[in-house]
Amino acid sequence: MRKKIIAANWKMNKTINESIHLVEETLSLLPADHPRDAVVILCPPFISLAKVSEALQNNKKIFSGAQNCHWENFGAYTGEISAAMIKSAGAGYVILGHSERRQYFNETNEQLAQKANTVLSEGLIPIFCCGEPLNIRESNTHFELLQEQITKGLFHLMEDEFRHVIIAYEPVWAIGTGKVASEEQAQEMHEFIRHLIRKQYGEEVAGLTPIIYGGSMKPSNARGLLSQPDVDGGLIGGASLEAADFVEIIKAV
Ligand code: PEP
Repeated sequence: MRKKIIAANWKMNKTINESIHLVEETLSLLPADHPRDAVVILCPPFISLAKVSEALQNNKKIFSGAQNCHWENFGAYTGEISAAMIKSAGAGYVILGHSERRQYFNETNEQLAQKANTVLSEGLIPIFCCGEPLNIRESNTHFELLQEQITKGLFHLMEDEFRHVIIAYEPVWAIGTGKVASEEQAQEMHEFIRHLIRKQYGEEVAGLTPIIYGGSMKPSNARGLLSQPDVDGGLIGGASLEAADFVEIIKAV
């Protein structure tokens, strides 16, 4: 059975002290028997990553992750952070290709393919984001765009590498807008992604790959989205900054 994943993307929010406070608050609100079935991942800003990892180090089901990384492991790339550095900070996951990185930092599918290589070569798990902007959905070309993002960003991987990948479907029009994809829209796209994986890597790998949904997920809509057969969890932005809301979403798994 594939894993359920609930990941928090804090984006450029929280100082180091605030990050630790949010971790402590989140942990204190989780029921003792939690998380029943889900792997929980907290992705703070880089500057807090080592501290957050340290705060989670005795926890067996809550892990830390980064929001991005460079495609090289070291070198003259001022201001950048490598997968090796992320690993040394105690994190196990890296979000790749978030739409804000694609949009504001011009990340390309080709760069993301290289980043996926570096992340995997360090033994980290990529959370690979894909999703269409509003104009693409309105022109009904969202299936083609998703196919391109996933094919160029991930399908160069060998099967044993791909087995470690988590995919996040995040329609850009639903991110931070309060406009959530309907349960049917989410299921349709997740099913399509799984179909692509099946064609590339076969039935077993398709059945095992977690595909999570991101875009204005909150306590009021989480249960419906998470109950869709191909929705294996969530990538949560805004609602993950409020411990109570985030924990409610975890409980909806
Ligand atoms: C995100 O940034 O990955 C995200 C899903 O944000 P939000 O939940 O705020 O829409």
